[in-house]
Amino acid sequence: VTSESSSDVVVIGAGMIGAMCALRLIEEGVRVTLVEQHFPGGGSTGAAMGHVVAMDDTPAQLALCAYSLGRWEALRHTFDGVAEYDVAGTLWLASDDAELNVATRRATSYRAAGVKAQVVDTDSLELLEPNLAFGLAGALKVEGDGVCYPPAIVRELVTRAVASGLRIVTGRVATLDTQCACLEDGSRIRAAHIVVAAGVNSIALVPRLPLVPRKGHLVITDRQPGLIRHQLVELGYLRSAHTMANESVAFNVQPRRNGQLLIGSSRELVGQDNSINRSMVRAMLERAVRFVPRIASARAWRSWTGFRPTTPDALPLIGAWQEMPGVWIATGHEGLGITMAPGTADIIVAGILGVAPPVDATPFLPDRPIRIRQVA
Ligand SMILES: Cc1cc2nc3c(=O)[nH]c(=O)nc-3n(C[C@H](O)[C@H](O)[C@H](O)COP(=O)(O)OP(=O)(O)OC[C@H]3O[C@@H](n4cnc5c(N)ncnc54)[C@H](O)[C@@H]3O)c2cc1C
Repeated sequence: VTSESSSDVVVIGAGMIGAMCALRLIEEGVRVTLVEQHFPGGGSTGAAMGHVVAMDDTPAQLALCAYSLGRWEALRHTFDGVAEYDVAGTLWLASDDAELNVATRRATSYRAAGVKAQVVDTDSLELLEPNLAFGLAGALKVEGDGVCYPPAIVRELVTRAVASGLRIVTGRVATLDTQCACLEDGSRIRAAHIVVAAGVNSIALVPRLPLVPRKGHLVITDRQPGLIRHQLVELGYLRSAHTMANESVAFNVQPRRNGQLLIGSSRELVGQDNSINRSMVRAMLERAVRFVPRIASARAWRSWTGFRPTTPDALPLIGAWQEMPGVWIATGHEGLGITMAPGTADIIVAGILGVAPPVDATPFLPDRPIRIRQVA
């Protein structure tokens, strides 16, 4: 006997994106079923760094980041004691004058979007981060950026949604039928709206999505309290994040609240091979030591990999999928899915309720004509 149930909305995937969508829909009084094949937060979200960051590769990207940062600012107070959310700020490090010029240009575009940003010179940088290598030209300081622990936030979002009536089903959605999610075990869930928030696996359900998995490594160290105070990223990170090279590494280090350091970051196009690539890890660590020499004496406890759901134009896919009436897409956030989750959920909720979204959502339409974005 095939079991059949119904809901107003089915959300597929309990990562940061699906969990945020589910809670927001529940808050609007909608009946929601959330389907997760493993456990909430166990996908890319559990592998992420948790940098909540205003990125400004394009005006559309910055608009969604800036809106989401505003929402995180309100949300983080409701996660006290759970999320390890600290407003550490980001220092984008400039190695030379050319990069400092980039920092100056970016400061202007941030401020135009309402994001607090300023350029700091070498002397001020030394005061902000005494353990940085000598000889850096300065940095761009973005003070409102945060760091958090994403899997704990997802668990909390799901717990809150369940307390307000969310139905959660453990199982794998095998196919989508008209207004119906069909699970591997033969059960079917009917709903007027289906939100596909299955991360890199969304293409198994909607094969024409322009989405590829992009592997990343992270390393966590032993406790080094006070060694660094901000999220530190090299300005060259932008090139690594937004060009589709087969392999790239950029310096990106985060201070965790307990003193551990989370060291990134790598990008590789290798399908869903999740093995550790030792040469990538070595390159990441060498780069970290180049910017913060004292990291050489830290002990690396563990390293792992995860997959960023990546689109060719570096913008997420958010909105109705016209080919399949009732299907909504919420994925493709690359390295910004934690950051952009609140904005994404608000856009999806607005679409389902038929009201105007809080930011212009046209650049994110999942069936937009896609132009490949390359940053010089
Ligand atoms: C190394 C690394 C570092 C990162 N650092 C950051 C960062 O600092 N800041 C930031 O903003 N972002 C970061 N990201 C990106 C971020 O992790 C992702 O953009 C985000 O987690 C995507 O969330 P999601 O909910 O879309 O996907 P996921 O977290 O992967 O969730 C999808 C869920 O769907 C489930 N699922 C899939 N298929 C099915 C199915 N058929 N049926 C049922 N369930 C299904 C999966 O089990 C999974 O739980 C990083 C990513 C990586 C890999």
